[in-house]
Amino acid sequence: METPGSQSSLHRANLERVVRAVRLAGSLTQAEIARSTGLSAATVSNIVRELRDNGTVQVTPTSSGGRRARSVALSGDAGIVVGVDFGHSHLRVAVGNLAHQVLAEQSEPIDVDASASQGFDRAEQLVARLVQSTGISPEKVLGVGLGVPGPIDVESGTLGSTAILPGWGGINPRQELSDRLGVPVQVDNDANLGALGELVWGGGRGVKDLAYIKVSSGVGAGLVIDGRIYRGPGGTAGEIGHITLDESGPVCRCGNRGCLETFTAARYVLELLRGSHGDGLTIPKMVQLGREGDPGCRRVIGDVGRHIGMGVASLCNLLNPSRVVLGGDLAEAGELVLGPIRESVSRYAIPSAAQRLSVVPGALGARAEVLGALALVLSEMGDSTLLDGNVQVDTPAFSA
Ligand SMILES: [Zn+2]
Repeated sequence: METPGSQSSLHRANLERVVRAVRLAGSLTQAEIARSTGLSAATVSNIVRELRDNGTVQVTPTSSGGRRARSVALSGDAGIVVGVDFGHSHLRVAVGNLAHQVLAEQSEPIDVDASASQGFDRAEQLVARLVQSTGISPEKVLGVGLGVPGPIDVESGTLGSTAILPGWGGINPRQELSDRLGVPVQVDNDANLGALGELVWGGGRGVKDLAYIKVSSGVGAGLVIDGRIYRGPGGTAGEIGHITLDESGPVCRCGNRGCLETFTAARYVLELLRGSHGDGLTIPKMVQLGREGDPGCRRVIGDVGRHIGMGVASLCNLLNPSRVVLGGDLAEAGELVLGPIRESVSRYAIPSAAQRLSVVPGALGARAEVLGALALVLSEMGDSTLLDGNVQVDTPAFSA
């Protein structure tokens, strides 16, 4: 038995701190490890040597600010993780290793709303095919992250509402996929996974507090507080789509009037352009026309940005995030939407909170959620497992 506070338990705790920092970041220099763990440079150096010798991490030469440095990552062949992302009209799967390298990735169009079992059949086949393409044994799969486009109870794995996924009634998505693949599955909604994806791989790298805003059929925010997803006890944190902007506005599906969603979600926004642009418009098409200079589309995109900004301003006052990452199709509009978001934030948020905030487009596009599913497995995986596992040193590098 180790006594808390003893030399050996302190050493073990330091090992876990270093492994955790590296696991969450993908790769870090020794100086970055020292900064993020608060350990001294000498302690980090000793611990990294020990972890390298027992095969938990791999160390490769790199340069940091023009100086020679050593990049530390978890061993690439210690195991693989799988991300599965269901959207309303697509299925995307990615396979990655513990060094945060994406080894294989593929997306297929699919009508997920129609039939859940068909969706899971396709997911099972695609996972098998992609894992096989990496040449790594399926037995090396340590865990699977699953993203669904709606509210989900992370603890039980059940859907909060089947109104959003009509064909999924009575299904526990986590259990379903776990039974099929024979490995532990962790599940979360698309906004939270988008946040995690951008935090680890994209527009949120380097910050600890961010909000990922996704506008599609609804509007949601994935909230990262101090490096971790904040879900709240019922898993509904981040439902900014139902902030009231106009109490005598249009009736929302939640029963209230004038929610943010009724000013920003696709079915309301496209309706504004129906008279002038006809029936066939989609959000990607509207964004494309806006970028090409279409005045009506530019106006509507700007208005959507202004309204999102009002929601972001509230978020800013409550949580004071350092970064807001806009995901989804709308992010492709760039400054046409980001400028109005920033204007609203500076108008409606407390100046001290607004000053510290940067509003950026997502860097991962449609990949954010599936990479977030990979990051979910990587972030929830216990470091003890890694430290006690039988792992070997292999090839280096970071790539997404
Ligand atoms: Zn509402």
